[in-house]
Amino acid sequence: MKNKNIFPKYIVVTGGVISGVGKGIATASIGMILKNYGYTVTTIKIDPYINFDAGTLRPTEHGEVWVTDDGGEIDQDLGNYERFLNQHFSKKNNITTGQIYSKVIENERDGKFLGQTVQLIPHISDEIKRRIKEVGKNYEFVLIEIGGTIGDYENIPYLFAVKSLEREIGEERVTYVLITYLPTPRHIGEMKTKPTQQAIKLLSEHGIFPNFILCRAKEPLDSVRKKKIEIYANIDSEHVISAPDIDTLYRVPLNFEKDNLGKKILKEFFLKPKKKADWSFLEKSVKIIENPKNYLTVAMVGKYIDIGEFSLKDSYISVSQALEHAGVKNNCGVKIDWLSAQDIEKGIIGEKELKKYDGIIVPGGFGKEGVEGKLKVIRYSRENNVPFLGLCFGLQLAIVEFARNVCKLKNANSVEIDPQTEYPVINFIENQRKFIKESRYGGTMRLGVYAAHLFEESLVYRLYRELNRIEEDKKIIEELKKDKDNSFRLGYLEKDKPIIVERHRHRYEVNNDFVKLIQDNGLYFSGYHNINENERLMEFIEIKKHRFFVATQAHPEFRSTIFSPAPLFYGFIKASLKFKLDRLKNVI
Ligand code: GLN
Repeated sequence: MKNKNIFPKYIVVTGGVISGVGKGIATASIGMILKNYGYTVTTIKIDPYINFDAGTLRPTEHGEVWVTDDGGEIDQDLGNYERFLNQHFSKKNNITTGQIYSKVIENERDGKFLGQTVQLIPHISDEIKRRIKEVGKNYEFVLIEIGGTIGDYENIPYLFAVKSLEREIGEERVTYVLITYLPTPRHIGEMKTKPTQQAIKLLSEHGIFPNFILCRAKEPLDSVRKKKIEIYANIDSEHVISAPDIDTLYRVPLNFEKDNLGKKILKEFFLKPKKKADWSFLEKSVKIIENPKNYLTVAMVGKYIDIGEFSLKDSYISVSQALEHAGVKNNCGVKIDWLSAQDIEKGIIGEKELKKYDGIIVPGGFGKEGVEGKLKVIRYSRENNVPFLGLCFGLQLAIVEFARNVCKLKNANSVEIDPQTEYPVINFIENQRKFIKESRYGGTMRLGVYAAHLFEESLVYRLYRELNRIEEDKKIIEELKKDKDNSFRLGYLEKDKPIIVERHRHRYEVNNDFVKLIQDNGLYFSGYHNINENERLMEFIEIKKHRFFVATQAHPEFRSTIFSPAPLFYGFIKASLKFKLDRLKNVI
C-alpha cells in the first residue's frame, strides 16, 4: 500500500532534445508551486562535469557564477532556485561529478572500502545517493535537476543513482519530469514531436518512464501533437503540459498552475494541497513587468569580451534580475543598455550618449580591460549627480576615481590593475589571506556571506531598514553563530549595532591606510566588516551630497528576489526614477 506520510518525496527533472530550454526555471517553478501549497521544498542541481565547482568556469561560456551563503561557486540555476523559492541554499545543493569522484577517491585512500574494488557501480552511485539524501533530510520535497540532456554519457551514473534510489525507497516516493523541446523547422513550418519521442526512448533505456512531460516550444502544443506524445510515452494526456516561450520568467509558474500542474504532481504522491495557494503577489508583479506605469533606462558598464553582447548579459543575470525586482517594487520597468567600457575608454561613447541614462551601474568584474572607461563613467555620474550603483569592482573603482580626482592622488589604483601604483587604494589584505586560508577556503577570494555593521546616519542603513533587512538578517546571523564551519563569516560583532549580511566574491579590499583621507574629502564609508576587534574591511560607500552615489564591496544581487528586492537596487531605482521625472519636469 502506498504510504503518503513518508517524506521526502523526490521529483527528478531531466531534459530531452537540447539544453538551454529553461529546465532550471521549470524546476524552480515546480518548487515554487509546491511551496505555495504549503510543502517544504529543497532543490539539487546536478552538474555532470568534472570541475569541482563553477568557480573556475569562464562566465562567458557558462553564464554567471552564483555564490551561496557558505561560499559555494555554482551554476546560475541555483540562483533561479533561490530566487523562485525565496530560500537560501548551500553549496551542498549542487553536485558535480568532480565532487563525487574526489569524495570516493578520498574514502578509498582512507581505506574505507576495506579492500574492495572501487567501481562506478555501486560506489559512485552510492555516493550520489548519499549526497541527495543528505540534502533532502529535513524537507518534504526534493527536486533534483540533472544537468545536460538525456543521452549524454556523463548523465549515466546519475540516472542509475536515481533509479536505484527509487528501488530503495519505493516508486511511490519518486516522480520523473521530462522537459523536452519541440522544434518547428522553418522549411516545414510544423512542430515536430520526433526528438521528444527519442528522448522518451533514451530515458526508458535507464528504466525511467516520465510521469510528466513538459513540452517547451515556440508555440503552445496543439491537440494532435499532445495526443502523439501521450500515446508514445504511455501517459495520461493531463500529464503532457504545454510550456510555450514567454517573455516574463515569473509567468512560468503561473502558466503551470493554469494547467494545475501542482495538484497533479501532488496527486502522483497521493497528496493534497496543505493550503490554498496565493498567487496574487506574483500576478501583480508580472503585470508590472509586462505593463509598467513608468520605465527607465539604466546603463550597465561592463567589459566586452569578444563573444559579444549576449554573453555579457548572461554573465550579469543576477544584476539584471535584481534590477527587475527593484523595478517591480517601484512600480516601473527597467530597460538595461549594455555599454562597453572599452568604447567609453576610447571615447566612442561619450557624455552625449551617457546623458540619456537615468542611472548607471558598474557591476562586478576582473582585470584591466576597460577600467579607464569605467572610471570615466563613474566620474561622470559623480560630477553630474546621476544615480550610480557600484557593485564589488564597481566600489573599488569608485574609490580609485575619487582618490585620483578628488583626493588628488595621482595614478591611484587597485593593485589588481597596477601592482606598482604609488597609491594602492585597493589592496590585498595580508591578514585576510591568512584568515581565509585558516577557514579552509584554500584560495584567496572572499566568498560567501559576511556580516557588515551599518552606520545609522547612512543612506545605506535607511534602505536596509526600509526593506526590513535588519530584522531578516538577524535570523541569518543567529543561524551562523550556531554553524561552526561558517561562524567566522560574522567576524567580531559589536553590540546593539545594525548588522546585515551580504555575499562576496572578490580578492581585493579597500586599503584602510587611505580611508581617513578619502572620508575627509567627502566619500562616506557607511558600513564595515570586523575581521576582529582591531581590523575592519570597508563594505559600503556613499556620497551624502549626491542624489544617489552608493557602492558596495558585496554582491547584493545574490540576495535579491521578487519577494524581497535588494535594498541598494531598490534605492538606486527609486533615485533613478526621480531623476528621470525631475528631468522631464525640467526641474533640473
Ligand atoms: N576584481 C575584483 C577583486 O577581485 C572585484 C571582483 C568582483 O567584482 N567580483 O577584488
